[in-house]
Amino acid sequence: MTPQNILNADLHCHSVVSDGTLTPEALAERAKANGVELWALTDHDEIGGQQRAAAAAKAQGMHYLTGTEVSVTFAGQTVHIVGLGFDAGNPEIMQGLRNTRGGREQRAMEMSDSLAKVGIKGAYEGALKFVGNPELISRTHFARFLVESGVCRETNEVFRKYLTEGKPGYVPHRWATLRDAVTWITQAQGIAVIAHPGRYKFTPNEEYALFTEFKSHGGRGVEVVTGSHTPQEYIKYAETAKEFGLAASRGSDFHSPDESHTDLGTLPFLPGELTPVWELLADRIQ
Ligand code: AMP
Ligand code: MN
Ligand code: MN
Ligand code: MN
Repeated sequence: MTPQNILNADLHCHSVVSDGTLTPEALAERAKANGVELWALTDHDEIGGQQRAAAAAKAQGMHYLTGTEVSVTFAGQTVHIVGLGFDAGNPEIMQGLRNTRGGREQRAMEMSDSLAKVGIKGAYEGALKFVGNPELISRTHFARFLVESGVCRETNEVFRKYLTEGKPGYVPHRWATLRDAVTWITQAQGIAVIAHPGRYKFTPNEEYALFTEFKSHGGRGVEVVTGSHTPQEYIKYAETAKEFGLAASRGSDFHSPDESHTDLGTLPFLPGELTPVWELLADRIQ
């Protein structure tokens, strides 16, 4: 395998098992076509696609790491923690993720009621048509329904107008704790990684607390090069990685050919001075 930082690793994307639109097999094919050498499928709160993804990676001649993206509530906001290289048959991580998925259906019905109050009827049933996994109805599926029904032109607009804090379709939700998410991943022999830190609306103090607590629970990585960051944020979070002694990860966060602006395997390489997470996971690569 290509050594260290000059490796086309894409360790963040979503399939129909969460809120992506492609199957694990189609994602593997697309990753391979784009030159990805090491791949991980990281569905939200779900590892039901891991066996298919690993088999598809093997069929394509790509190296594979198990993956997931756990929803966490920290300081009143939703934070995403990516888990990589864990044992996907580990009962504790399976149960933890099952519990995390648990509140989604109720939340979806409340979102639908809330949208009905501003005149958008039938959103729950409408969103369900886009759902590939009944345990994983997400805001993305509502966004697709609102685009399909002509309420908005694209999913970004739906989030801006309806599905974010303070907007009519937004329903606050309590996800896993930071401690639990990191613990599930690490006790299953994986590495926990803070996903796209540039996306959170934390004050500098809150962000410092996130990194400090994450490390104290055993977290070891941070996404530096991601489809959610600007080039300035690559530099900012490369500095944060060094400051906190964290390894760095790289991933597109690809969801769909029609919606995602960053395709699999197309991001810049990790800055040379950082330790890539895959160096810590050498013995977990399939
Ligand atoms: P949920 O886990 O149901 O709250 O949904 C979160 C998902 O919504 C994220 O993983 C993204 O895929 C998507 N999302 C969040 N914010 C936006 C946005 N501004 N534009 C498009 N998709 C978004
Ligand atoms: Mn998503
Ligand atoms: Mn995320
Ligand atoms: Mn993601």
